[in-house]
Amino acid sequence: MNHFKRIAMHIRTTIKFIVLVIISAFLIVTAVAVFYKPTYAVYFNDELIGYTENKSELQAKINQYMEGGSKDGVAFAQIDSMPEYALCLLKKDIISNDDEIYATVTQNGTEYYRYYAITDDKEEKLYVKTFEEAEKVVSQLKEKNSVNKNDIGIVEKYDTQIKEFASVETCISKLYEAPKPKVTYVASTSSGYVSGMSSQKVNIGISLIRPISGVITSRFGSRESIRSYGHRGLDIAAPAGTPIKAAASGTVTTSGYNSSYGNMIIISHGNGVQTVYGHCSQLLVSVGQTVSQGQVIGKVGSTGHSTGPHLHLEVRINGVLQNPQNYVY
Ligand SMILES: [Zn+2]
Repeated sequence: MNHFKRIAMHIRTTIKFIVLVIISAFLIVTAVAVFYKPTYAVYFNDELIGYTENKSELQAKINQYMEGGSKDGVAFAQIDSMPEYALCLLKKDIISNDDEIYATVTQNGTEYYRYYAITDDKEEKLYVKTFEEAEKVVSQLKEKNSVNKNDIGIVEKYDTQIKEFASVETCISKLYEAPKPKVTYVASTSSGYVSGMSSQKVNIGISLIRPISGVITSRFGSRESIRSYGHRGLDIAAPAGTPIKAAASGTVTTSGYNSSYGNMIIISHGNGVQTVYGHCSQLLVSVGQTVSQGQVIGKVGSTGHSTGPHLHLEVRINGVLQNPQNYVY
C-alpha cells in the first residue's frame, strides 16, 4: 500500500516537472519572439560589416543601386561582390545598421552613366543626356537640309565619367552646315527704279550687274494669262533699242532666233552659271565670242512671244532656272 502511494507521488512530481518545463519553454520562446527579431549578420568580401533585421529590404535597395535607380543618368552599377547573410537569432547586443551596410557595399561600386553622342562622319562631336534630344538634333538638321545631314549619327554611350551635355539648340548651331554654293550673302545696291523683294543677294562666286535699267513687269515664277507655266525669268520693261549689257563676263554660247524667246543670247560665265537675254530687237554678239561685264550685247525689243518691248532675263545654274532677283535687281 505504502509502496503504491510512493509510486503515485513520484508520477505526479514528474508530470508537474514536465508541465513546468513546457511552460518555461513557452515563456522563453514568447520572450524571444517579443524582444528579438530574426537578425542577419552581413558579410561582404568575407568580412562582417554589420547586422540587419530587414534582409529583403536591404537587398532590394542594393539591387536598385545596381539597376541604376540610385542616381539620375546612371544606367547601371557594378559592385565587387554580393553581400552574404547569416541568421543569428539570439544576439542580444545587436544594433542593426542597414545604412552603413548599404554604404559599404556601394561605396566601391562603379556607376555607369548612359548618354548619347552625336556623331558627324562617325566622330563624336557633342553629347546629350537623352535619346529624345539626340533624335531632335538629327531630325532638325535634316529639316534644315544641313549638308552633313546624312553623316550625322547617334551613339548610345556608357561611361563611368559623365560628359558635359549640350542643349539641342547648341548641337544644331554647331553641327549645321548650310548648303554650299549659296552660303554667303552679299548686300546689293538698291535702285531708284525697282523696289527689290529683298536687299540680300545670293553669292554664286560671280557678281551680276543689271543688263538694263527699267521697271520689272513680271517676276520669276509668276503666272499670267500670256503663259500657262510659271515665269522662267524676270521681265524688265524698257524702250525698244535700249542697249543690253552682259551681266558678267563670259562666253556667248547662243545668239539667234527662237520662237518663244525671239532674238536671244545665252552667256556662260563658268561655275555652271548662265544668263539668258530674250526678245532682243538686235543681237550684237555671236556664238563663241567672249564678252566682258557691261559690254553691250544686244538691244531691247519685242521679238518672239512678247507683248511689248522688254528684256526677258534668266539665270541658270547647272541648267536649273533660278530667280534672277536672288542675284541682281
Ligand atoms: Zn519673260
